[in-house]
Amino acid sequence: MANIDLVDTNLANLNIIDEEEDLLLVLGEDTAVEQLYKLCLVGRVLTDSIVNFPALKNTLADLWHPLRGVTITEIEDKRILFKFYSEIDLNLVLHGLPWFFNRHLIIFHKLVEGEDPNSVPLWHTVFWVQVHNLPIGYTLKETTRQIGDFVGKFEEYDSSLVTRGVSKFMRVRVIINVRLPLKRKKRIGIGQNRFIYVLFQYERLSFFCFICGRLGHGENYCEVKLRMGNQHIEFGWDLTLRATPRRGGQVVSKWIREESNTDKWQDMEIDGERSVRKAGGEATNNNEEKEEVGPWGRSTR
Ligand SMILES: [Zn+2]
Repeated sequence: MANIDLVDTNLANLNIIDEEEDLLLVLGEDTAVEQLYKLCLVGRVLTDSIVNFPALKNTLADLWHPLRGVTITEIEDKRILFKFYSEIDLNLVLHGLPWFFNRHLIIFHKLVEGEDPNSVPLWHTVFWVQVHNLPIGYTLKETTRQIGDFVGKFEEYDSSLVTRGVSKFMRVRVIINVRLPLKRKKRIGIGQNRFIYVLFQYERLSFFCFICGRLGHGENYCEVKLRMGNQHIEFGWDLTLRATPRRGGQVVSKWIREESNTDKWQDMEIDGERSVRKAGGEATNNNEEKEEVGPWGRSTR
């Protein structure tokens, strides 16, 4: 009798194992995860300084004024999670990149399913870059793509050639790796024996280092400077890299004729910002508001 009981128990155990192994389909979880990530951005302010989170929250919400609202929460390692409730609101924010808080760049990344907001790499940002000095006729799409891929990673270009005063320039939207120095110029071959330099200006460029050309810190906190100690340091970058704000964000029509006297541009107010010609010499980020400079005020070295 004892043996029969044992057999019964074994069979019962086998049944339990079988039941345990039977696949139970769980529905709905993926949809929930997808919902969680669908309208989320993860971001961080590119600075080692302490960020006033409540101020950042209010500033960004006021800037974006999303119609359906936004939830902004601090997560691990100074990262911030932005949850939107409408695709339109989210796209407006993405379209308006780059964003800044207290002149520091905020790096954003649109979360996709499976990504961990606490560890997804946050090193890339988008900039509109103006390409100056390109001869007319060389603003072809392929040239634009090559230049964009040199500055960073080409995303798109503005097909209208922008005219300001006597200068013309082209605009490319590029993804930039913030760990690399900002590109200043590129030598371009024209035909067999001629070459020129095209010059880059970054729209809405804010705080960056004039020693190493990277975003996120000033000269006083530069690794390169720390390593060089008391040696003389060349400032390889300056404010000529910063594009002057376009008036009202409008592109001036190519059919408009402007006066050729560039001097009248030297000291004028644009978008509420004072644009003053810089007479050369070393400039630092410490007084950068006073040293706003446009393409007409390029300092020569
Ligand atoms: Zn630096």
